[in-house]
Amino acid sequence: MLIGGGHSHVQVLRSLRMRPLAGVRTTVITRELHTPYSGMLPGLIAGHYQFDDAHIDLGPLAQSAGARLIAAEVTGLDLDGACVHLRDRPPVRFDLLSINSGGAPSLGGIAANGAIIPVKPIGTFLPYWQALLCAWQNGELGARPRLAIVGGGAGGVELALSVVYALDRLGLPREVTLVAAGNDVLADHNPRVRRHFRRRLEAVGVAVRLGFEVTAFEDGRLRSDSGQALQTERVLWVTGVAAPAWPRQSGLAVDEAGFVRVDATLRSISHQQVFAAGDVAALDGQPRPKSGVYAVREGPTLINNLRRAAAGERLAAYRAQRRALALISEGERRAVASRGWLFAEGVWLWRVKNFIDRRFMARFEVPANVPDHLRDAEPMAAMRCGGCGAKLGADLLARVLRRLQVPDQADILQGVGDDAAVIATTSRTVATVDGFRAMIDDPYRFGRIAAQHALSDVFAMGAVPRVALALVSVPLMADTMMEDELYQVMAGACEVFRDSAVGLAGGHSAEAAELSLGFAVLGQAPEAPWQKGLLADGDRLLMTKPLGVGALMAGHMRGVAKSRDTQRAIESMERSNGAAADIFKKHGVHAATDVTGFGLLGHLAEMLRASGVGAEVDANAVPALPGALALIDAGIESTLAPSNARALDDFEIVGAPPTDARVRLLIDPQTSGGLLAGVAEPHVSACLAELEQAGYEVAVVGRIGSRSQVGGGVVRVD
Ligand SMILES: Cc1cc2nc3c(=O)[nH]c(=O)nc-3n(C[C@H](O)[C@H](O)[C@H](O)COP(=O)(O)OP(=O)(O)OC[C@H]3O[C@@H](n4cnc5c(N)ncnc54)[C@H](O)[C@@H]3O)c2cc1C
Repeated sequence: MLIGGGHSHVQVLRSLRMRPLAGVRTTVITRELHTPYSGMLPGLIAGHYQFDDAHIDLGPLAQSAGARLIAAEVTGLDLDGACVHLRDRPPVRFDLLSINSGGAPSLGGIAANGAIIPVKPIGTFLPYWQALLCAWQNGELGARPRLAIVGGGAGGVELALSVVYALDRLGLPREVTLVAAGNDVLADHNPRVRRHFRRRLEAVGVAVRLGFEVTAFEDGRLRSDSGQALQTERVLWVTGVAAPAWPRQSGLAVDEAGFVRVDATLRSISHQQVFAAGDVAALDGQPRPKSGVYAVREGPTLINNLRRAAAGERLAAYRAQRRALALISEGERRAVASRGWLFAEGVWLWRVKNFIDRRFMARFEVPANVPDHLRDAEPMAAMRCGGCGAKLGADLLARVLRRLQVPDQADILQGVGDDAAVIATTSRTVATVDGFRAMIDDPYRFGRIAAQHALSDVFAMGAVPRVALALVSVPLMADTMMEDELYQVMAGACEVFRDSAVGLAGGHSAEAAELSLGFAVLGQAPEAPWQKGLLADGDRLLMTKPLGVGALMAGHMRGVAKSRDTQRAIESMERSNGAAADIFKKHGVHAATDVTGFGLLGHLAEMLRASGVGAEVDANAVPALPGALALIDAGIESTLAPSNARALDDFEIVGAPPTDARVRLLIDPQTSGGLLAGVAEPHVSACLAELEQAGYEVAVVGRIGSRSQVGGGVVRVD
C-alpha cells in the first residue's frame, strides 16, 4: 500500500512497471492525481511550462505498473488492525505500507484565508494562482496590487522571480516584496549565490524585507513581533514544510517535528511493516533538507527494500548524499548552479536544468496499451470449482456482512440471512436488473457507480426504488484481500442505497475471473409510469449529465486519458438521477429514459420509434465531459461505439461529417448516464433552472417535431 504519489513512489511505480512483483497487489492512495515535479514548479509559474509538462499523471503510471489507484485523502492509520483510514470512505487494509505523502503547509500558526495561501500543496496553489492572475487582470485588486512572498529560501526566491516574470509578461502593474526571517536570502547557499540573487531581485523590482519574522496577518498587514509591518493585498507562503498530524496520531515513531522516523533502510523505527521516504520522513542519523532532490534519491532504495520486505529478505541501507547540486532558476530562462562554494550562472544552465528535468519527466510517460501485468503476475490456483463451488466462503461473507451496515427498508420483511428475501410489494411494482464488470480499479467507487446505474432504470420510470438484491463476483486472491474487495465494493453500493432510502434484501457472491457487480431493484411505480413512447410534438429534450464516459473509460483502460478527466467521469457516474427525476415529476414529464449503453442517439431513437415522432438534435448544445472530445478525435472510443453507430443511419447529419467528434459523442455508450426526458415547452425554463440549482449539468439537447421522420430526425452541428 503506497500512501501518496510523491517523488519516491513514482519511481516505485516505474520500477513495478518494468519488473512486476509476482503475487503482490499494489495500491496507491493519493490526494492529488497529478504529482507536480518540484524542479519544474518555478518554470510552470513563470509560464515556461504547461501543466502537463510539470506533472506526472499517476493514473496511467499506476495502471502500467499493475497498481490500483485510489483517489482519496489518508486521515490516519490503524497500525494494529493494518488499516489505512480515508476521508469520506471506508478504510482499506494493507500488509506492507510505504508513505511518501510530502509535508504539510507550515503557516506558523497563521490561518490561511482568501488573501494568504501556502504554496504547498501545489494542487491547491495552482488554481489559486490562476484565479489571482484573473483578478489581477480584471483590476479587482486595485490599480497597483501588492503581493508579498514569505520565505527567503530557494523556494521563495524562485517563486518571487517567477511570479514577477509572469506578471511582467502580462504587462500587469505590481509591487512585490519578498519577506525573510533571516538576515539574508538563501541562507544555506554560498555568498556569491546570495549576492547574485539579491541583485537579481533588485533588478526586477522585488523589494526584500529581511529579519522580518511574520507572526500575524491582520487588516491586510503582515506583522512581526519586533514591530515590522507590511501592507499587502495577497500573501504567498513558501517557508519550510510542517509534518502532517496523522502519522504521530497513529502511533508511528516520529521526530520532535512530527516526521516519520526511519532507519537507514527507510523502514519505520517503530513498525516493521511501514516504510517512509521524502519530506514526510526523518532519516535517523542523516538529517537532510526537505527537498525533492532527496525524495528522488530515496526512490531506488525504497523500491529495492519494498521488494525485499515482501520476499522476507534482508534490507539494504541507504546513505543520503551530503550535498546536492542546486540549479536555481531566475524567473526568465536563466539559472544558477550552487553547491558548496561553487557558483555558475547563465542561460546555458537553464538549458541544462530544462534538459535534466524533461529527461526525468520522460521516464514516467506511459506508452498506450500497456499490458496488465497484475493479472499476469497473479498466482492462480491450478483448479477452481465452478457452479456453487465458486461461491465465496461462508466465513468471509459473514465477516463482510458484519462490517457492512446493510441498509434496511420497511418493505423488507425478511432480508439478508435466509434463503430468499420476503418483501411486501405494492400492487404496482417496478422491477429491473443491471450489472457489469469493473471498469475502474477502485472497488468502492465502482460499487457506488453500479448501484447508481441500477437505480437509474427505476428513476427513468418516474418510480421510487425501494429494495435491491446484489449479484457480485470477486477475483480469486488471498482470503483477506477477497474479503476487503467484497467489503469495499459493497460498502460503496450500500452508501448509495442508504442515500436513496433503498434497502438491500439479499444477494449472491461468487468467485470469478474479475470483479463484477449487478443489482435487481424493485421500486414503487407511480399511478402513470413514465414511458419511452409518450414523447409529444413540441417537447424539448432535456439531458441531465454530460456525455463522454465511454470514450474516457476506453482512454483510461489504454492509459491515454488524463487522470483529472477520468475522475470527472467517475464523479459524473456516481451522481444520482433521483433528484432529477423528482424535478421532472414536478414539471409534468411523462416520457423519459436513462442514457446508457446505446448512447444518446440510440436511446433517443428507441423513444422516437415508440412515440411515433422524430426529433431535431442540437449537437452543439450537448455537454461533453472534459477530455472526451479530444479522445474521440484521436480515435479512442468504447468497443460498443461502432455498433452504436448504426443509430446514425436514422438521423440526417447537417453541418459536419458523421465522423466529427461532436457527432460520435452522441453514440458514445454511457455507464450511469443522465436522464433524457421530454419536457413540454411551458415548463422548460423553470425545469432547467431547478435542475441547475440541484447541481446538474443539464442541457436542452433537442426538440420533438417531425412526424415525417419517425424514429429518427436531424442532428445539427455548427
Ligand atoms: C515553490 C517550490 C519550489 C520548489 N523547488 C524545488 C526544487 O527546485 N528542487 C527540489 O528538490 N525541491 C523543491 N521544492 C521542494 C519540493 O517540492 C518537496 O521537497 C518535494 O515535493 C517533496 O517530495 P515528496 O516526494 O516528499 O512529496 P510530494 O512531492 O509533496 O508528494 C506528496 C504526494 O502525497 C500525496 N498526499 C499528501 N498528503 C496525502 C494524504 N493525506 N493522503 C493521500 N495522499 C496524500 C500528494 O497528493 C502527493 O501525491 C520546492 C518547493 C516549493 C514550494
